[in-house]
Amino acid sequence: MQYLSTRGAGPVGLDQALVAGIAEDGGLFVPRGLPEFANADFDGADSLNAVARVVCEPFFAGSSLADDLDAVLNETLSFPIPLTPLPGGDWSLLELFHGPTAAFKDVGAAFLAACLTRLCGDAKAPLTILVATSGDTGGAVAAAFNERPGMRVVVLYPKGRVSARQEHQLTCWGDNVLSVRVDGSFDDCQRIVKAALADGALSSRHRFSSANSINVGRLLPQATYYAYSALEHWRATGTKPGFIVPTGNLGNALACILAREMGLPVGPVVLATNANRTIPDYFETLEWLPRPSVRTLASAMDVGDPSNMERLRCLVGGADVLRDRLGVVSVSDEQIAREIARSFAGFGFAVCPHTATATYAWRTFDEAVREERHWIAVATAHAAKFETIVEPRIGEAVPLPPELEAMLSRPTRVLDIEPELEALAECMQHAF
Ligand SMILES: *Cc1c(COP(=O)(O)O)cnc(C)c1O
Repeated sequence: MQYLSTRGAGPVGLDQALVAGIAEDGGLFVPRGLPEFANADFDGADSLNAVARVVCEPFFAGSSLADDLDAVLNETLSFPIPLTPLPGGDWSLLELFHGPTAAFKDVGAAFLAACLTRLCGDAKAPLTILVATSGDTGGAVAAAFNERPGMRVVVLYPKGRVSARQEHQLTCWGDNVLSVRVDGSFDDCQRIVKAALADGALSSRHRFSSANSINVGRLLPQATYYAYSALEHWRATGTKPGFIVPTGNLGNALACILAREMGLPVGPVVLATNANRTIPDYFETLEWLPRPSVRTLASAMDVGDPSNMERLRCLVGGADVLRDRLGVVSVSDEQIAREIARSFAGFGFAVCPHTATATYAWRTFDEAVREERHWIAVATAHAAKFETIVEPRIGEAVPLPPELEAMLSRPTRVLDIEPELEALAECMQHAF
């Protein structure tokens, strides 16, 4: 499989697309022509890993990693991804939060770590993974690369905009991980990372690669859990489930759309956003107007300029096409807060604020829409990661999953910088 830039450069093979992260013309890599699957292609593939293998194989054709695909997938999908039925209707929760940092980004990060360590782990000239995070990406990437030989990680996150437990997860790693707190927003962090990757001198000194949801290696493995859960449902009922995906930078939802484009039995896809309205406004006005992000309770979705839109347009089409193929529900903080309480009362367990946008979106559907098919709301993080938001709304403590408990006992370390590339360059010079 070859990969092209959304802006025209390429083609390159998978290995190069994974290592470079971003194309030389500043675009994002997309597969050149998607494989088309029929449900019968998955006959005999009864586990998540087996389905993932079928989905991923064409994307690995011609890659030096092709023979390692099983090993890569075993490292990636090493924790359960259950589908839990929900009361009150024909719907369920796809729980993506059972990995090391209790959020769905563990899947993409583990996949990328498995691939990049094989491709370019080099103790003499380490590869440096540069990652901007609005909360969960950085922790997942740091956990995935922590103490991997020949690999370094630099995590940039916005000061005061991540939860205390998220911050702990961003800052509690070994010597090969540098945690940088930026006096700015997530968009500032993302801008600095893009500038660093585009800076020739800096980039060659540190052998940069990116692990944001802009790396195509984050996207591919995420398509596997949509493929698997859709197939399981289709096998049991002969119908296609709809998916409701909490959406910020559009990486997770894009993977779901990708699965549908490749012929997997995925029904309607609904994007649940918070008060950052760039995507809903785009569908309404057909004009793409990126803007500064606003802070919400679902902070990992506080994105004003979702970079994966460039990929989505390239793979599917412009706003007029997209709005026919996708639903979108924008959820306010007040609605998130009420949904956390309501879902706790109804489910008997708490959902995180991001997940709450999806369960809330389902409740906004007309009764006929809710009843015409099975809906799968995607749970992107464990509620215990956002205890300061969740606990006051449910009136009790959220039990910590064991991964989080272990992580919270580790010591932390962080550097503060102004939102400028020079400040990042300087602190990297000292750190490594
Ligand atoms: C990152 C994140 C999201 C948003 O995912 P995107 O791929 O950026 O759209 C939603 N929920 C949680 C918990 C996240 O960490």
